[in-house]
Amino acid sequence: MPKPAIVILTGAGISAESGLSTFRSSNGLWNNHPVEDVATIEAFERNPEYVHDFYNELKPELNRAKPNAAHLAITRLQNEYPGEVHIITQNVDTLHEKAGSQNICHIHGQINQAVCLNCGQVLETFGDVNTETVCPHCQIQGMMKPNIVFFGENLLCMDKVDELLKNCGLFLSIGTSGVVFPAADFVRIAKICGAKTYEFNLEETSNNWYFDKHIYGKAGTTVPAFVDELLKEPSDNF
Ligand code: NAD
Repeated sequence: MPKPAIVILTGAGISAESGLSTFRSSNGLWNNHPVEDVATIEAFERNPEYVHDFYNELKPELNRAKPNAAHLAITRLQNEYPGEVHIITQNVDTLHEKAGSQNICHIHGQINQAVCLNCGQVLETFGDVNTETVCPHCQIQGMMKPNIVFFGENLLCMDKVDELLKNCGLFLSIGTSGVVFPAADFVRIAKICGAKTYEFNLEETSNNWYFDKHIYGKAGTTVPAFVDELLKEPSDNF
C-alpha cells in the first residue's frame, strides 16, 4: 500500500545557499532592481528592453548555480519514499532539475524559456532574448517574452497544482516568505483538505497560521535532517 503523497512548495530561500539572492529579504529588490521594474506585466509592456536585459543578465548567474543539500535531500526523498513526492516551485532557476528531481511544476516559469505572445509557443533558450528575437514557430519578430510569470499574470500548471494540494497527506513549504499569492494560499488549501503542513524557514513568516509545525534554520541543514528522519520510518500520519 503506497504511503500518502507529499507535496513540497519551494521558494527563493531554498536556493539561497546555492548563492542566489532571494527577493523580499532585500526590501523588495531582486538583484538590486525594484520588483515593479522587472517583475510586472506593466513594466514589460512599458519597457521590454529593460526587462529583457534584466533576465538576460540573470540567466548566466542562475545557470552557474549548483544545487545544495536541500535540493539533493528532496531528490533522495523522491527516490526512497514509498509514495508520490511532487515539487511545486516558485523558483525560476532549475536547481531541482540539476539535483535530479522529477515531478516539478514551475508555477512562476523558468529562466531558460521564452514565450511568444503572438502564437503562445514556448521556446527553450539559454542565450539572450530581446525585442529583435524572431519566434521560430510563427516567424513574428519582437513578441517574445521571458517565460517568467509576472505580477498580473496567471500562474502556470494550476490545474495540476490544485489536484496535488487536494490529495496530499503532507505539505512542506521550504524557503518562501508566503507573501506572493496565490502560492501563499496553498498551505490553507492543503490543510483544509486534510494534509499535515510543515514550514521550513529561517524565521517566522507572516503566513504561518495554517502550519502544524515550523522548522527554523537553513534549509540546507533542516531539510536533509527531516528527510533522514522521515525515511527511517515512513508513517501514514506524519
Ligand atoms: P522570498 O524572497 O519572498 O522569500 C524567501 C524566504 O526564504 C524568506 O522567508 C527567507 O526568510 C527564507 N530563507 C532565506 N534563506 C533561507 C535558507 N537558507 N533556508 C530557509 N529559508 C530561507 O521568496 P519567495 O517567497 O519564493 O517569493 C519570491 C518570488 O521571486 C518567487 O516566486 C520567484 O519567482 C522569484 N525569485 C526566484 C528566485 C530563484 O529562482 N532562485 C530568486 C529570487 C526570486
